[in-house]
Amino acid sequence: MYPVMLNLRGRPALVVGGGEVALRKIEGLLAEGARLTVVSPEVVPSIDDLARRGALTLERRDYRSGDVAGFTLVFAATDDRAVNGRVFSDAREAGIWVNVADDPEYCTFHLPARVQRGSLQLTVASDGGAPFVVRRLRQLLERRLGAEWSEWMDAAARLRQSVRALGLPRAASERIYDSFFASTVEGEKLRARVPRAGEMKAWLTPRSAESANRETPRPSGAESAALLSFGARAGPVPGLRPGLVSLVGAGPGDPSLLTLRARQRLFAADAIVYDRLAAPALPPDLPAHIELHCVGKEAGHHPVPQEEINALLARLALAGKRTVRLKGGDPFVFGRGSEEAESLRPLGIPYEIVPGVTAGIGATAYAGIPVTHRGESVRLTLVTAHESSKRGGPQVRWDLLAQDSNATLVGYMGVANLPDVAAKLIAGGMPASTPAALVAHGTRSTQRTVVSTIGGLEAAGVAEGIRPPAIFVIGPTVRHAAVLDWFTSRPLSGERIGVFATEASPAAALYDALDVAGAEVVSTTRPLTPAARVVLDVAPLTGWLFKSAEEVESIEEERGLPGWSADMHAYCLGAATASRARARGWRHVTELAEGMAPAAVIAAIASRIEFAAFAARKG
Ligand code: SAH
Repeated sequence: MYPVMLNLRGRPALVVGGGEVALRKIEGLLAEGARLTVVSPEVVPSIDDLARRGALTLERRDYRSGDVAGFTLVFAATDDRAVNGRVFSDAREAGIWVNVADDPEYCTFHLPARVQRGSLQLTVASDGGAPFVVRRLRQLLERRLGAEWSEWMDAAARLRQSVRALGLPRAASERIYDSFFASTVEGEKLRARVPRAGEMKAWLTPRSAESANRETPRPSGAESAALLSFGARAGPVPGLRPGLVSLVGAGPGDPSLLTLRARQRLFAADAIVYDRLAAPALPPDLPAHIELHCVGKEAGHHPVPQEEINALLARLALAGKRTVRLKGGDPFVFGRGSEEAESLRPLGIPYEIVPGVTAGIGATAYAGIPVTHRGESVRLTLVTAHESSKRGGPQVRWDLLAQDSNATLVGYMGVANLPDVAAKLIAGGMPASTPAALVAHGTRSTQRTVVSTIGGLEAAGVAEGIRPPAIFVIGPTVRHAAVLDWFTSRPLSGERIGVFATEASPAAALYDALDVAGAEVVSTTRPLTPAARVVLDVAPLTGWLFKSAEEVESIEEERGLPGWSADMHAYCLGAATASRARARGWRHVTELAEGMAPAAVIAAIASRIEFAAFAARKG
């Protein structure tokens, strides 16, 4: 089947038949300006009307062979299949395109289903194998496509006229069309916006002239080299409206520590560029159409060089994409967010900073260490203990920090350097008995806290097998951790449980209870989104909560999903769910009675964990 759009203006077309079906064809043909003849002994009143008004030629008689001669297009819509068949064979013999309503065998062409919004037409067609699909798709589009598309189409046509009048080179015209499209169409939602007159004017005014007066620093050599390698031009691109880049703080890891704005920006994004520290905070229900770019940065090794990250952001933004650069903690706290923002500025790319909870505030809070406390600590210092600060750059004055005993010192990127830092602080006069702690994986289900003294912290950390990311905290308030440790002392602390998202009340109340009891609830949609896979890969799940046998089945399709382990527990609501899980080979199945109170569910899971810990201790 080969689709074409026919220009019927002034062309002779024949319709054989005079009922409702014929009427629909007639209306469609007249709307396109066809010169219409209708042959039928009887016609519905509307056709009669049209004939009287001179809109068409009506011949009130039976169809005769030879009627088709001289027409470009022939339609038959009588209720007599024999007549329809004759029309078909006559037309085919005469080499005229013919369509018999609802009779594919008697057609040399088919009419696609269509949705019309002004001059815009979307058509749906198939080879006839499943016409019901075509009908439903058409209805779907009919519902989804708002009336504004008609006016939008007119605006597009006006824009094209103006662009042609300017006589711009092809590439420049395309850039203007790109701007128009990017800022007026929400592709995912099939929504369009009619641009304001001012916007239309702005797209048509080359921007180089207006920006020449503005002070725009040139990009540094490295930046322009990196950008050129992606084919982007240095300097604002005339006529192109780059997408907004949001430099967003993801917080220390617990996804619920994302700010409202961070969440909003993530869901509104076309592309997200994230690193390892930010991965745990990605919302698992992020729609699959959002591009995810991992530029995984980890302590000690930077797989994607900073210049390439800068260039990637520029490339995405210059393609008109709303881009989120998601960074662990806060973008401006040891996050190189300022460098990224500075690389965007000379390119005329708009950006914004969305602050986040920095590890020094978030991880300490979850470890029960207040960073200030009346009468104990009157100053908070965030410091980098990274080795690179030794090389040539500005030095941390550990000797000065050592002098201040009523203060809290939070060290980032410093686990490997702890012996050196401790030695310098002690040499600078800090008592070796000063309380100190390491908080690793702060706010995540894998959070670990080691409390010691500045003199003993390194050894204690090694003994406990502390792994990055971790901060160290030094100062008198560290003592409070013993009493304020609220996070890891909750009954389900350390549990990371996958669930299928729901807003239905009993299950939602249960999820909330799990969360309050200290479990990290990873709420996913079916099928799993790419973001959910990233999140699941961050740390192994300890269990999955199944509400039905059907849910057990749908996770089957995800076997081998990231974060999957054979030791994972299946917490099953109801006997049928549990037996399905057993049948599917789950080794650890805990059956929970359907309708069980959330508190009882928590108690059951907690006692299971306690028992496992007890068994492990007994060896
Ligand atoms: N911009 C980030 C810091 C990035 S530097 C922020 O504001 O938090 C990376 C360092 O942050 C790590 O080496 C570690 O010291 C610290 N860090 C980040 N996330 C952490 C977490 N969840 N727990 C403990 N330390 C963390």
